[in-house]
Amino acid sequence: MDDVLEALSQVHQPPFQLVSAVAELVFAISMSPGERSTDEDPPDWRKRDEGWTIDGLLGVYVADKREITIFAKGIKHAAAQLGTTPSGLEYVVRLHEWGHAIFHLGVDRVKSAELAKASLTNDASAEQVTGQRLTDTYGSVDPYVHEQIAQALAWLALEELRSKATIDKAKTACARLSDTFEMLMRRRPPQYRLDSLRHLERDQLRRRVCGVIRLIRDAGVRADRETWDTIMPW
Ligand SMILES: [Zn+2]
Repeated sequence: MDDVLEALSQVHQPPFQLVSAVAELVFAISMSPGERSTDEDPPDWRKRDEGWTIDGLLGVYVADKREITIFAKGIKHAAAQLGTTPSGLEYVVRLHEWGHAIFHLGVDRVKSAELAKASLTNDASAEQVTGQRLTDTYGSVDPYVHEQIAQALAWLALEELRSKATIDKAKTACARLSDTFEMLMRRRPPQYRLDSLRHLERDQLRRRVCGVIRLIRDAGVRADRETWDTIMPW
């Protein structure tokens, strides 16, 4: 493989694969969300010069439809505002939205194998029950915690990418993506900022995010801002 292709392969990993790896969760075959890009006006288009959020201007994950929408117009506008490239910003936004999706629908490998086995015997009920349970849990979570989880997974995915880049061009591309993430984060309201988690090592943060997702799902921990701010940063 020549250098450019090698560099490309190091930075061009599908967002769903990266967030899946850092969250240690997978999408069961029939539960994987869809993803589309649109030229329609995003919901925050009127606020595009100030006061917009990632999910209002750049992309959104709609749990009921199990669908990610990327707003091309919003991305182009915000990229110019932040002084970055639309393609880099889009990649960062896709990581964020896939972060929401994996938190909603990602299952561990045991559950995934169980669902695959059930689908082989045409048993759709196992997947329906799991899907409904996951959707109920997802719907019970405070918006602040949703954004923190999506941002933490996006950041971890970028760091994972960066750690695997060995070729200079790939390293430069990863550094630019990280800069874009930082610029985006600095401009956003508190729920999108990871300030209180910056002192954590990458693996420490990853283990905590995975642990919190398990606690929310299995132990019914109340997923509100107070709980998050108590257990995540210590
Ligand atoms: Zn979000």
